[in-house]
Amino acid sequence: MGKKRVTSGMRPTGCLHLGNLLGALTNWVRLQDEYDCFYFIVDWHALTTPGGGAAVGYENVGELQNFIREMALDWISAGLDPDKCSIFVQSSVPEVAELHLLFSMITPLGWLERNPTYRDMILGYKIESPSYGLLGYPTLQAADILAYKGEFVPVGRDQEAHVNMTRDLAQRFNSLYGKQVFPITETLLTEVPKVPGLESVEKKMSKSAGNYIAFSLSEEETTEKVKSMFTDPVKIRKDDPGHPDGCVVFAFHDIYNRPELENIRGECEKGKRGCVACKMQLAGSMNRALEPIRNKRKKLEEKPEMVEEILRAGSERARNAARETLREVREVMNLPPRKDY
Ligand code: SF4
Repeated sequence: MGKKRVTSGMRPTGCLHLGNLLGALTNWVRLQDEYDCFYFIVDWHALTTPGGGAAVGYENVGELQNFIREMALDWISAGLDPDKCSIFVQSSVPEVAELHLLFSMITPLGWLERNPTYRDMILGYKIESPSYGLLGYPTLQAADILAYKGEFVPVGRDQEAHVNMTRDLAQRFNSLYGKQVFPITETLLTEVPKVPGLESVEKKMSKSAGNYIAFSLSEEETTEKVKSMFTDPVKIRKDDPGHPDGCVVFAFHDIYNRPELENIRGECEKGKRGCVACKMQLAGSMNRALEPIRNKRKKLEEKPEMVEEILRAGSERARNAARETLREVREVMNLPPRKDY
């Protein structure tokens, strides 16, 4: 039996950061050995919001292609292997747009209006006049997954609901047309470390909050970012007893220096560890972990044609899979067959 299919996408936001690396990419790299993975850069999704500042959107498309290239570089540098998974750009598979259109015909408006993410996006991006595309983005998301008959979508615990609409649409389609065309996609729950922002353990690292460490940064730049991390404000001198649980540096030691964590905690609490030395230890471990990614990225940057070829080959595989699905979809919907499918 062939491998089960996993699909997942990421919005092109420019250089990726440690939150993306530890929260998603590391897991994607693991999954590519076990599953038939389709990973795509969701450029159409980027156009569902207006954008502005450093963010791309339908009002701000200038950096879109650049961000796509940067994201592909980051993915491959982080370990996605084009021999093991398909890496491509969402819009290079026009069959997904057709499936989105057909799904939009059978998606009850109430499903979209009740979607909590829609309201969160309007608030988060301060959108005064939300577009038709934004309201319908879960339908596009379903087309992204189901065009390739994705059986699993890797998600964190807080994102399980994102796949519900895809499951509902697959069920609705299958029952309307009396054939199990689509699988009922399941979530692949993954435990990912909580990656805090530089300024607080309570905040998540994110591009929009500007509290991130891009993994394309040099060793020196990464060290500077670590130096800027929030620590226990009452620990001024080395011998002051510290409170590691509210300290961002300690949270990162939990990721990069786990075997030494209890020792670090003890030394901090007993006033036997200074914050400057503590940060330098973290910067050292972080830089050692990031070095192979940086080296690979540097080599890839010198060969842009190689990245283009990886995306081209990935989109060809994806299109073949999507064409097969659309052939079946058009048949059960009694649409005229297309010669190119
Ligand atoms: S010693 Fe380390 S863990 Fe303790 S407050 Fe300073 S930076 Fe944080």
